[in-house]
Amino acid sequence: MTTDTLLIHNATLCTFGDANQVIDGGAALVENGQIAALGRSDELLHAYPEARREDAGGKLLMPGNICSHTHFYGAFARGLYIPGPAPKDFPEILRRLWWTLDMALDDDGVLTSALVCLVDAIRNGTTTLFDHHASPQHIDGSLDIIAGAVEAAGLRAVLCYEVTDRNGPEGAAAGIAENVRFIKAQRARSGDRPEQVMLSALFGLHASLSLSDETLARCVAEAETLGGVGFHVHAAEGPADQEDSLAKYGLRTVDRLRERGVLNPRSIVAHVTAIDGWEMAGLRKSGAWVTHQPRSNMNNAVGVADVPAMLRGDMPVLLGNDGFSNDMFAEMKTAYLLHKVWRNDPRVLPGNQVIDMAYRHNARLAAQHFPQPLGELSVGAAADLILLDYCPTTPLHSDNLPWHILFGISGSHVTHTMVAGRWLMKNRELLTLDEAAITAHSRQAAQATWERFWEMSG
Ligand SMILES: [Zn+2]
Repeated sequence: MTTDTLLIHNATLCTFGDANQVIDGGAALVENGQIAALGRSDELLHAYPEARREDAGGKLLMPGNICSHTHFYGAFARGLYIPGPAPKDFPEILRRLWWTLDMALDDDGVLTSALVCLVDAIRNGTTTLFDHHASPQHIDGSLDIIAGAVEAAGLRAVLCYEVTDRNGPEGAAAGIAENVRFIKAQRARSGDRPEQVMLSALFGLHASLSLSDETLARCVAEAETLGGVGFHVHAAEGPADQEDSLAKYGLRTVDRLRERGVLNPRSIVAHVTAIDGWEMAGLRKSGAWVTHQPRSNMNNAVGVADVPAMLRGDMPVLLGNDGFSNDMFAEMKTAYLLHKVWRNDPRVLPGNQVIDMAYRHNARLAAQHFPQPLGELSVGAAADLILLDYCPTTPLHSDNLPWHILFGISGSHVTHTMVAGRWLMKNRELLTLDEAAITAHSRQAAQATWERFWEMSG
């Protein structure tokens, strides 16, 4: 028995995955960053008497959550005052909030924004994040800054830089170079120890409306030379992206991205709230992943993606948070509610489908980047685990677990977070990041960023 063997016992296991069991009085043996055994506590305590032990005190033991689309760079938007009347539509939100905020970020802002989000992720039990980064004043090396923060936190992440033409040809070229540089560096690093990969990369693109055909062609050409690279892009986030694409190129947004070679089975397409049936068929045919961010879509008033239709067509729609809190349970609840009010039908998007998106589908995406299975408790899966002090007041079993999540469980129930067999939080105390110091520094860095923001807004 090796010394890094840990037996977490006296837990209620929620396995998810194909087994999809709820095991009362359960235990998980963690060895070398993976789950080595699962079963009843009494049996595993007997079978592994020399393993170190962690008494879970009857808490729920679940796989860590996965977020398929987020923006660490947006952390300082919380509480930010936007001068003038409230933005009236999504293009104004982009111009007056996001494209000013990202311009105001310096290197310290990039780092601190990331750290703030990583603290939030550990606290809420989100252990794998697909980030989409922008910091136009500090492009070169920005992904290294974020990667360093992710490594310090001990989480898993898939990073990329949002290429855009909105900052001129130099800005676009720098964004392309940052993606290429980081993808190559990441491959070199993971090549040494592929079984221990914690970071991965995609080729980031902002959105059709901010990318010329020339820039898209350069991105696709670079990706081809790298071989097998997926893109991470916003598409049809409301009508403006459609109107722009139709006016400039005579093509609807998804048709354009598909024709230009952006959509492949490793690409992630965020939002698609304003697509038609043919675009949906094109997405399905391309094999690209669609990710759904209902809180963001509601906040931006950009419409509702037809997730029920995509699921009916066996498209493995993902769930992301678009920079909202890293409490993915909150995103699940919002998805569950939004589609019912949208269709005025309580049968639309039942709870098990929401949970499939958040766990099964997000795990399938993660499997393209990480060596061990994520999003489930199974022998051989990564030991990315969370404990929750959720004490069900009604019977809990595998058939009704989705509704316990949607009506009972929240990120605030998470007391312990483990990634690759390493505790990142125990009893709500962070072990890898200095939360108090990060929080205090963040208030200062946010104030400095806000002042640059207001200056640019003037
Ligand atoms: Zn986004």
